[in-house]
Amino acid sequence: MDKRNHIVVAIDGPAGAGKSTVAKLVARRLSLLYIDSGAMYRAVAWKALTTKTDISDARIVAELARQMKIELAPADRGARVFADGKEITHLIREPEVTEASSRIATIGAVREVLVRQQQEMGRTRGVAMEGRDIGTVVFPDTPFKFYLDASSRERARRRKNDLERAGHNVELEDLEREVVARDRRDMTRAVGPLRKVEDALVIDTTAMSIEQVVEVIVEHVHTIRKEAMKE
Ligand code: C5P
Repeated sequence: MDKRNHIVVAIDGPAGAGKSTVAKLVARRLSLLYIDSGAMYRAVAWKALTTKTDISDARIVAELARQMKIELAPADRGARVFADGKEITHLIREPEVTEASSRIATIGAVREVLVRQQQEMGRTRGVAMEGRDIGTVVFPDTPFKFYLDASSRERARRRKNDLERAGHNVELEDLEREVVARDRRDMTRAVGPLRKVEDALVIDTTAMSIEQVVEVIVEHVHTIRKEAMKE
């Protein structure tokens, strides 16, 4: 592996800000491995729901996270997700899993388990990782930090499009309410809350195309690398 490519691009932001699509394209442009950290929280939530585990019982959910094996396998359209060998790529996008994932993500011991696995993924090769705490907790030392944002209405609209493509028909108002509730939970939890850090480049994607956002990120990475080489 080319040493120059062993960089970590951290992309954080609220639900529906465009992180997944953007991170996948950034990874491709910079020859990095794309990692969707949210898929790991979703995998734990899926496991808890299918085993009828009480998701309000922090100790049991943390034990479940510790014991399960989550694998993210690179694929053409992002990544396939496996839990203990079973493919759950699509199952974890179900609305109940979405809701449960943001609840189990408030459990400190669950975050500890997943953060450690995410750090390990970035140890041996360059990655573009998206989530909520990548620049703050998982890779606080990376100079390549981005925070994507967009209005809650626009984020709800994007979720609606995604869900419609997956066969779900949901009211825009309901989705916006759900997105705002999830934001609140993500931003106010005690461990690894979603927040903007000073050294992150904040990009408001409300009126931007995906290509434009990707371009801003790739350019910024190149600029930081050039400056680092001068030093
Ligand atoms: O990114 P996505 O919406 O798929 O993530 C699902 C949930 O997982 C989020 O609502 C959030 O609560 C949690 N999450 C997290 N930290 C991350 C990634 C996701 O808490 N790094």
